[in-house]
Amino acid sequence: MLTTGLLERTAPLYDRVRSVIPPIEWPVFAEDIDAILALKRERNAVILAHNYMTPEIFHCVADIVGDSLALAREAMKVDADVIVLAGVHFMAETAKLLNPNKTVLIPDSRAGCSLAESITAADVRLMRERYPGVPVVTYVNSSAAVKAESDICCTSGNARKVVESLGVDTVIMLPDEYLAQNIAKQTQVKILSWAGHCEVHERFTAAEVRALRRDYPGVVILAHPECPPEVVAEADYAGSTADMSAFVGREKPAKVVLLTECSMADNVSVGHPDVSFVRPCNLCPHMKRITLPNIRHALETMTEEVTIDPALADRARLAVERMVAVR
Ligand code: SF4
Repeated sequence: MLTTGLLERTAPLYDRVRSVIPPIEWPVFAEDIDAILALKRERNAVILAHNYMTPEIFHCVADIVGDSLALAREAMKVDADVIVLAGVHFMAETAKLLNPNKTVLIPDSRAGCSLAESITAADVRLMRERYPGVPVVTYVNSSAAVKAESDICCTSGNARKVVESLGVDTVIMLPDEYLAQNIAKQTQVKILSWAGHCEVHERFTAAEVRALRRDYPGVVILAHPECPPEVVAEADYAGSTADMSAFVGREKPAKVVLLTECSMADNVSVGHPDVSFVRPCNLCPHMKRITLPNIRHALETMTEEVTIDPALADRARLAVERMVAVR
């Protein structure tokens, strides 16, 4: 129930997000936020939130925020009994791989990913048969079963470094075809790809980028490398969500557009009131399954717990740890 005390307790949190959440909406969030903060203390839990979470999650209840790479790295250092992963299922699996003795919860296990679902472990074995001896670099947007068949993982933030760290002239990069093609332009290593796509980023088009330049003169356009190569070619800069956020902080463009999931611009804009964000909006339906009410429910009921078949967990963990070790 909403009380004056509750609104007073949560007022400092509202100050963080008042530029992106209208005052009339705040009471809807405040009660869940207050309950979640108390439950975190009670359960000795931390919340890891991806950059695509909505601002009331990202700025008001998360302990650690970032892209897939940052979450994977930070998940290894977490000192808590319980991790709630506010993100999609493969991210929760990665947190569990790196914290086998902790309880990892995902607020909605239906939060999937078109990339992760585009490939199976059997597909990876077939690729190995077809290209014997060629190492397999697997994007973290994949299931633990697929990671277990891989030599090393990568994220959009470290893909080129990971590919070049192997010291070979050809690699298989799975499952994101566009990431593979975008990285292939930055390296001498030959990259064999798979036909997986992110359903959010594949919708951006080069014509849309040109229209943005026409309609918003002077706008700086940043693209995620999961976008098609022709989109990346039209952009001013391509990088992971962490790279985009760093770019905005460093360059402070007057007007910027982030060609990625909708919530990213909301979350970055909170720290940069002087930057004007143009917002073409492609929503990830999987990320949006995670809400304050289901985070609260996860902590109240300690569900849904993420488990991984021990037979493949060790191999999958090795692929993630090899990636984290690449500097
Ligand atoms: S934004 Fe794309 S890659 Fe990320 S979870 Fe959604 S479908 Fe998967």
